Amino acid sequence: MDGLSETDLEIRRRAREFVDTLIPYEVETELAGGILRPELVEEHHEEALRRGLYATNMPTSVGGPGLTALQQVLVQEQVGRVTNGLAWCLHTPPQWWVEVATEEQLERWVRPAVRGERHECYAITEELAGSDVSALATTARRDGDDYVVNGTKWHVTSYNVADYCFVQAVLTDGPHAGEHVLLVVDLPTPGIEVVRTPAYSHHIADEHPIVSFTDVRVPASQLVGAEGAGMTFAQDWFRFERVMVAARCVGASARLVDEMTTFAGTRIVNGRPLGEHQLVTAMLADSATELFAARAALYEVARSIDAGEDRAVLHARASMVKLLCSETAGRIADRAVQVFGGRGYMRENVAERMYRELRVERIWEGASELQRLIVGRQLLKRGAPTVLGT
Ligand SMILES: Cc1cc2nc3c(=O)[nH]c(=O)nc-3n(C[C@H](O)[C@H](O)[C@H](O)COP(=O)(O)OP(=O)(O)OC[C@H]3O[C@@H](n4cnc5c(N)ncnc54)[C@H](O)[C@@H]3O)c2cc1C
Repeated sequence: MDGLSETDLEIRRRAREFVDTLIPYEVETELAGGILRPELVEEHHEEALRRGLYATNMPTSVGGPGLTALQQVLVQEQVGRVTNGLAWCLHTPPQWWVEVATEEQLERWVRPAVRGERHECYAITEELAGSDVSALATTARRDGDDYVVNGTKWHVTSYNVADYCFVQAVLTDGPHAGEHVLLVVDLPTPGIEVVRTPAYSHHIADEHPIVSFTDVRVPASQLVGAEGAGMTFAQDWFRFERVMVAARCVGASARLVDEMTTFAGTRIVNGRPLGEHQLVTAMLADSATELFAARAALYEVARSIDAGEDRAVLHARASMVKLLCSETAGRIADRAVQVFGGRGYMRENVAERMYRELRVERIWEGASELQRLIVGRQLLKRGAPTVLGT
C-alpha cells in the first residue's frame, strides 16, 4: 500500500493505534481550554516513549530511533488526526542541532531531549519581524565570556512547558556585527520574563506568550554553531518543520474526510442520506481527491529527502508540500463544517475544532505567500525540471 515497506506500515500502525487512544479526550480538553488532567498528560508522555514514537526525528547517534523522513512523516500524519495538541506528546526535538552541537551541548540538552527529559521552545519572531526574519531587533552583545541579550519575542510556543529556549539575535559588535546568532538558554534565567500570554484561536495546553529578554547573560559556550550562522539553522528547521506541517495537515484532512463521509452516509435529509444529495457528494469527492493528491506529493517529497536530494531543491519542495497540504486542509475543514451543518459549528464537533486549529498552518513556519515566493524563486534560479525532478 502506498509503496510502503513492512517496517513503514508497522510504524504507521503503531502511531495510529496510540493516537486513537487520544481522540476520546478531545472534547474534554477543548472545553477545559486545552488543559488535560496532569496525570493523563504524564501517562501520554510515558506511553509515547514506551511505544518508540518520541523524538522520531533524532538519529541513533544521540539515542533516537533514526527513522527515515518517510517514516517520520507517517508518524506526524497520525499526530495531525487529533485536535487540541493532544498528540504533541509525540514530540520532535531540534534534530538540526545534532551536527553542530558541542559535546557539552549534546550532554546537557540534546540527549536529555531525546529521552523526553527536556523540552525546548523557540524565540525568533518579534513584533516587527515575522515573515522577514532578517528584520530582527533583538541584540546580542559580547561581554567577556558571555553574550548579553536584549529584546522582546512574540508567539513563543511551549514556553510554559519548556525548560530551555533558543533565542535568535543580531550581533552588535565583533567581526560578525549585524549578523545573527542562535543561543540556547535554560529556563528560568534571570532577565527572561513573560510580558503577557495572549489567547489564540485554538485551545492547546502549550501557550504562545510574548517574552522579554533584559540584559540576559548567556555563556559563550551556549552559542549554537558559529557566529553568523543563526539564519542557517532557522532554514534547516523550517525545511524539516514545513514537511511535518504538511504531514499533520494530511492527517487532519484524512480524519475530516472519514468523519464527514460517515456523517453524510447516516444523516437522513429529505428521506435519503445526506451524501446522496449531489451537492454534498461533490464536497466529499473534492475533499477525498485533494487529500489523495496532497498525500501522494507529501510521500514523494519525503522520499526525495531520503534519497539525498540537493538541499536547495528540497527547500523548494518542502515549501511546495507545506503550501499544498495546508491550503488543502483549510478547504477540507471548511467543507466539513458545511457538511455537518449546525453540528459543525459546535465546539464538541471535530470539524469545528479543526476549522479553527488548521488556520494557523497557513501562517506559521512561513505563510503561504512566503512559500509561493520560495518556490517561484527556486523555479527561476534552477529551472522547473530540477525543482520538479522531471
Ligand atoms: C500560534 C502561533 C505559534 C507560533 N510559534 C512561534 C514560535 O514558537 N517561535 C517563533 O519564533 N515564532 C512563532 N510564531 C510566529 C510565526 O512564525 C509568524 O507568525 C509567521 O512567520 C508570520 O509572521 P508575522 O505573524 O509577523 O506576519 P507578517 O510577517 O506581518 O506577515 C503578515 C502577512 O503578510 C503576508 N506577507 C508577509 N510577507 C510577505 C511577502 N514578502 N510577500 C507577500 N505577502 C507577505 C502573509 O500573508 C502574512 O501572513 C507563531 C505564530 C503563531 C500564530
